[in-house]
Amino acid sequence: MIPLEEPTIQASKLKAYQFDLATLIALLQGQEDDWLFHEAKQATELSFNGQVYLRGIVEFSNHCRNDCHYCGLRSANRAVKRYRLSFDEILHAVDTIAKLGLGTVVLQSGDDFHYRAETISRLIGEIKQRHDMAITLSLGDRKLTELKQWRDAGADRYLLKMETFDRKLFARCRPKADFDERLARLEYLQALGFQTGSGIITHLPGMTDEILARDLQILSRMQLDMLACGPFIAHSQTPFADQPNGSILTSHRVSAILRLMNPGANIPATSSLDALSQGARELALKRGCNVIMPSFTPEAVYANYSIYPGKNTANHHGQQRLTQLCQQLYAHGLTPSFTRGDAKRNLYVPRH
Ligand code: SAM
Repeated sequence: MIPLEEPTIQASKLKAYQFDLATLIALLQGQEDDWLFHEAKQATELSFNGQVYLRGIVEFSNHCRNDCHYCGLRSANRAVKRYRLSFDEILHAVDTIAKLGLGTVVLQSGDDFHYRAETISRLIGEIKQRHDMAITLSLGDRKLTELKQWRDAGADRYLLKMETFDRKLFARCRPKADFDERLARLEYLQALGFQTGSGIITHLPGMTDEILARDLQILSRMQLDMLACGPFIAHSQTPFADQPNGSILTSHRVSAILRLMNPGANIPATSSLDALSQGARELALKRGCNVIMPSFTPEAVYANYSIYPGKNTANHHGQQRLTQLCQQLYAHGLTPSFTRGDAKRNLYVPRH
């Protein structure tokens, strides 16, 4: 039985939970689901006033120099049709997002070094000149000097998921990536003043409850602004093709735990939830998540950003997709918010 702390969040709303390893494992195994989900919902409402932050994401290239064993964009996958958006095509997609009133754009790609640092800086400058919006970058393992260049150009946030903080599992899943360098990059991003995000894939093949629990402790210790966790989904063109998909329930438990440990962080409900089961993403928004990221990747290439099966398969695009998403959120009693939606991490102090 987990030693649950009293009083609950309502009475001490500015405190973040700290859980020991045994408690985390028990929570991950579902021993206190009612308490966990109730408390996470309350914490999310207290921090974000019942609002779900919307971000427009532009997935501008599916080229990748990495060869991660889980990802459909891995360089060894010859079956995927590769694309790169031009500078003007990216800007056009961002203009659409801004016109629809969204306060944040997320620019994401595989680790594609075809785009020079100067080009990305110019893009950031142009977006900032045209629109009053936050820019989140998710461009993978770029050089530290480039990260600084982009911060200087005006980028606000950077998302770099570790996928797991377990060194051995990381090496098994990401043979071309360097664990220490990725971790150092995260620290550097924070030092540069980026709102920094990281995260994990739950149920990566080889991930145990203990590894997952340790991942949550490390993630929470890092005092991040964004925490992303979504279930593993097997992709047929990868070495993990025959591995079982991650569990939606575990992913919900993970985001609920992260919410309690990081009450003011932005936690997206990932599209991998939706890919596994319709409605799983909305349920996540009632269990600790507070962000959703509709894709504005141009229709001609949208389906080719096929990280995992079920990703980018919606029929509607642009405004239609956004309208539909807002309707879905309202139908679930959730309120979409078009603001910049910065994290509220600094409002909180650790709970001892
Ligand atoms: N290239 C950048 C990087 O590595 O940081 C950003 C883009 S990466 C293509 C997007 C994210 O998709 C990864 O961080 C990973 O968490 C997620 N992802 C990839 N393959 C997945 C899979 N099979 N199941 C679940 N999530 C996956």
